[in-house]
Amino acid sequence: MKLTFLGAAQTVTGSCYLMEANNKKVLIDCGMFQGHDKEEDLNFEPFPFDVGSIDYLFLTHAHIDHSGKIPKLCKEGFKGEIICTKATADLCSIMLPDSGYIQESEIEWKNRKRKRAGRPLLEPLYTYQDALNSLKYFKPVSYHEVINLDGNITIKFSDAGHILGSSILEIWVREENSEIKVVFTGDLGNYDIPLLRDPEFIESADYLIIESTYGNRMHKENENKLRKLMNIIEETIQNGGNVVIPSFAVGRTQEIIYEIHKYRQLYQKDMEFLKTVPVYVDSPLAISATEIFRKNLDCYDEEARTYIENGDNPLDFPNLIFTRTPDESKMLNEKKEPCIIISASGMCEAGRIRHHLKHNLWREDSTVLFVGYQAPGTLGRRILDGIKKVKILGEEISIKARIESIEGYSGHADQKGLVNWVSHLKKMPKKTFIVHGEIEAQKVFAKLLKDKFGIKTVIPQRGDSYELTPFEAKSKESIKHLRDNFIRLQLLAQLDMLAEEVYFLTNNVDQEALNIKEDEEIKILQTKIEEIGASIKRINSIIKGSF
Ligand SMILES: [Zn+2]
Repeated sequence: MKLTFLGAAQTVTGSCYLMEANNKKVLIDCGMFQGHDKEEDLNFEPFPFDVGSIDYLFLTHAHIDHSGKIPKLCKEGFKGEIICTKATADLCSIMLPDSGYIQESEIEWKNRKRKRAGRPLLEPLYTYQDALNSLKYFKPVSYHEVINLDGNITIKFSDAGHILGSSILEIWVREENSEIKVVFTGDLGNYDIPLLRDPEFIESADYLIIESTYGNRMHKENENKLRKLMNIIEETIQNGGNVVIPSFAVGRTQEIIYEIHKYRQLYQKDMEFLKTVPVYVDSPLAISATEIFRKNLDCYDEEARTYIENGDNPLDFPNLIFTRTPDESKMLNEKKEPCIIISASGMCEAGRIRHHLKHNLWREDSTVLFVGYQAPGTLGRRILDGIKKVKILGEEISIKARIESIEGYSGHADQKGLVNWVSHLKKMPKKTFIVHGEIEAQKVFAKLLKDKFGIKTVIPQRGDSYELTPFEAKSKESIKHLRDNFIRLQLLAQLDMLAEEVYFLTNNVDQEALNIKEDEEIKILQTKIEEIGASIKRINSIIKGSF
């Protein structure tokens, strides 16, 4: 059996692996590269395989960095089956068309500029309609159902606890009277996440393909996150300000709604204000996603199911208000009484959240509360890092609001969670491939697996192929242009990031408001300088490792 790594190799996005056995071709995930513009260019590369010859696509979960290229795959001639859980198929039915709409809008914006410059126009990666067309290939299955495909490939989905419907895949491949079991963890969830079950454990794998997003880090405040969330909300509301929560529309938003509902049930008497303070969910995609969550109750954890059994919907309460139209959204900024606003995008790069930031960042009594990862270079990250002024929707805003962040809501297991998951394997794999992580995290995690369990690990590069046999994994070949293109774009992305960090530093030193005597200001500058150092180190290691 041959396994080729096509994405999420030494990076966290673009998940895609090709398995070839018994004249069958199977893709595991078909995700988009996301984040930096340069890395996103990789999405436009032609698929490095004959699209029409793919028999199956096994999809671990609905996140766009795992599913986002499905419409492109179908547009280019895929005729096989996309097998995933029902909740994943349901979520894809709103997330892929939404992604198609974003692709079209982005290209329209770029083309307006190109037209004026007399340059040739671009085509979107796919359209809203392409995404709708791709939905007919989905074949939903249940968790734990053992599905035999053509006698030689068997697959089972178990709960990965990462997002509604997310799965760990166990795949058994029969070739010439022997069988190999390959396990893909997909994205492994964090423990004790609202609504979702903890990741399930797997007994054994001949070969393991494991994610490593937080392979070198622990989450802070996993235990007290609900208390911290509510304290921040209470203090802000009592000061007369608004709480603005930038949140991913699918997953995190529903988890925060669930947490507020839970707190209302537990402490209603002590927290009278919770009964009356309006909670607005201002994101059309979040509204549709909440509907899908409400339809997939079988994916909920025990606590959430208890609410349902008692006739209580944990994703609803009397003062929860969904705003659908842009006019309703704008009205929120005219309201005088304090409120909670949950809006997308989670990293503040686009969407309605930018309006709410514009209207609240300047207010001393308001709070902007981050509940998700903020990638370097995004507006969310700059606000979190302590920048004093930002330009939002063409206007310069001076930041006076309280800025807070809670890490415990992360959708990914941290280093401890990953190690705990591996420790439950009763038989250790012959080889473990570490994917879906930045190289620094992967190296730390690989060493940890070797030291703790004696596991042999590989950190594959994009384009690398391995022959998996019942006895060993042999490195086979590498698709050189895939690897080179990835390295080139990664290097450019890092250089851009460095320029951004230097710009931030210059800007902060330049501002009249800077008071170098204040410890807090010095700390912000030092953190930035450390990041610049880390960026230079990363650029150096990319160059040293590849050229
Ligand atoms: Zn994910």
